[in-house]
Amino acid sequence: MKKPTVRTEIIRVNSKRPDYHIIRKASRLICNGEIVAFPTETVYGLGANALDPSSVSKIFKIKGRHSDNPLIVHIDDMNNLKKLVMEIPPSANKIINKFWPGPITLVFKKSESVPDITTGGLNTVAIRMPRNNVVLALIKMSGLPIAAPSANISGRPSPTKAKHVKDDLDGKIKLILDGGTAEIGIESTVIDVTQQIPIILRPGGISKESIENEIGKVRFHDSLLGLENSKHTKNRSPGMKYRHCSPNAQVILVEGPTNKARNKIIELTERLKIENKRVCVMTTSKSLKINAERIQYMGKRFETIGRNLFSNLREADSHKIDVILVQGIQHKKIGFAIMNRLKKAASKSIRV
Ligand code: AMP
Ligand code: MG
Repeated sequence: MKKPTVRTEIIRVNSKRPDYHIIRKASRLICNGEIVAFPTETVYGLGANALDPSSVSKIFKIKGRHSDNPLIVHIDDMNNLKKLVMEIPPSANKIINKFWPGPITLVFKKSESVPDITTGGLNTVAIRMPRNNVVLALIKMSGLPIAAPSANISGRPSPTKAKHVKDDLDGKIKLILDGGTAEIGIESTVIDVTQQIPIILRPGGISKESIENEIGKVRFHDSLLGLENSKHTKNRSPGMKYRHCSPNAQVILVEGPTNKARNKIIELTERLKIENKRVCVMTTSKSLKINAERIQYMGKRFETIGRNLFSNLREADSHKIDVILVQGIQHKKIGFAIMNRLKKAASKSIRV
């Protein structure tokens, strides 16, 4: 194995009232073109000065991220937004007023100040105002918009704890700010507001139903509805084509009515045990009796399932599990985003 070249420091920071000296240390790194990992309310981010191409290029290199997969730019106030975009459409203003700071990212036409590398060569830019005090303080003290994807190696489940960041990026970055477990646990919703009817490019922390309550009709991008091969579909969000969230274990998703799904999971577990596979079952059924190495109760509420989802997938790896059997959940509200991540993680989906 290659020796780490950098000593990675993890500093615990109060997520309500972040310590001034710690944020100053992190902001100095950002201003000097370095990379810092920090908590947000969605998942941990890997941040750099969004306006400096050479800083941003380090993010792509560290994560092993394709250069056509654009980054989200994080801001702390509306004046910064105006500098980064050509225009703010009325639908965007309504979304911002209701949901920012919070887990929703808006795609705008970009201004000249945003370098091409940050947007993966697109003429649009994705922007979000997060609601975690650590990242907000870091943006404010740096005086810069911060480009940040999730702080994992590309293709791995997003990190929801500082430990997950260290597991993936130890020896590759200088500083991880540890603000505890991410509140939401899945990434932000990404919505393209350059269209007459805004299009959700990635489901996430704010549901389609909640957005429609504020601004009326929005659409899911065809690819989220399984229509990606339609000849009318343009791939507006390059990130969507990459497989995501995968632990080392193989993930099999079982969807259908609770009883049928449970029975299928029991049957599959028996079969896998005969093949000497170590099985983890992730289920919403608390009383499920099953002969698996590990039974991971996911919770009942969407919020709980979402908060623990990536952590549960990573946990299975630490128990040397070969196959994770996951019981699907309903596709409504945040359940839609959770199922989107599970489908990306899964090598196989079974409907019963
Ligand atoms: P990540 O940073 O890994 O959470 O991913 C950010 C997501 O936002 C990816 O799916 C990107 O493709 C998407 N995204 C970022 N910028 C844009 C943009 N300008 N247009 C469309 N999608 C974008
Ligand atoms: Mg990511």
